[in-house]
Amino acid sequence: PLPTIYVITPTYARPVQLAELTRLGNTLRLVPSLHWVLVEDAPRRTDLVSRFLAGAGLPCTHLHVPTPRRCKRAGMPRATEQRNAGLAWIRQQHQPRRHPPWAPAGGSRILPPEQPVAGVVYFADDDNTYSVELFQEMRTTRKVSVWPVGLVGGRRYERPVVENGKVVGWYTGWRADRPFAIDMAGFAVSLQVILSNPKAAFKRRGSQPGMQESDFLKQITTVGELEPKANNCTKILVWHTRTEKVNLGNEPKYHKDSVKIEV
Ligand code: UDP
Ligand code: MN
Repeated sequence: PLPTIYVITPTYARPVQLAELTRLGNTLRLVPSLHWVLVEDAPRRTDLVSRFLAGAGLPCTHLHVPTPRRCKRAGMPRATEQRNAGLAWIRQQHQPRRHPPWAPAGGSRILPPEQPVAGVVYFADDDNTYSVELFQEMRTTRKVSVWPVGLVGGRRYERPVVENGKVVGWYTGWRADRPFAIDMAGFAVSLQVILSNPKAAFKRRGSQPGMQESDFLKQITTVGELEPKANNCTKILVWHTRTEKVNLGNEPKYHKDSVKIEV
């Protein structure tokens, strides 16, 4: 069977949210053996996202965790808590199974180790643009795989520089001093690496802007170990698109329409 791809998507309420989720859901629905872990940045699951997922037509899990208010300022890393909540859920799903308390006494309480489950974890922001081919590429991730990302870092693209099948550096226009000069959309991690590094997480404390990826990746891998995908990192299969803020300047102050519509 195909390894399951777990896609962790942080999302938050704003006028374009349902449009972004619709677009992303339409892409993910085309990918076989995929489980979407959608994590709302909210104190509770919202009706809007619940209704959306109910009709999205793909396997999914709906989580929520609010970002602390003091962390909602410009220049602070986004979606740290949500990505960690997604990781915690995935780890919990793959806890070793235990005998139930009513099982016959005497035997070991922990079942013999199961076959390692094949899977891949990918962090997909809700506003980027993903080709279906990207998921074929990441499906064969053994530990940590990497590829270029379009429209990011003040350039047309950023990419890992590959020599003889190994990553030897980074083509980037922004903070080339980053140990892993790569966007969140540019790497995937095998489930086994996530499970065997149970403490690996995104950090707020001490994480500078743009260092979330490096701070996470250095907990689980080294540059020399990275697996280049997308034709030795020469093909753009994902774009760091950003959606323009919508102009709602003509919204009436009070509800005026004869019906209430979810947008
Ligand atoms: N996000 C969030 N809470 C916020 C801001 C962003 O959950 O307060 C999510 C957002 O939906 C997206 C991800 O975090 O999936 C990255 O945010 P954004 O796209 O705004 O970051 P950028 O494109 O500027 O890196
Ligand atoms: Mn974005």
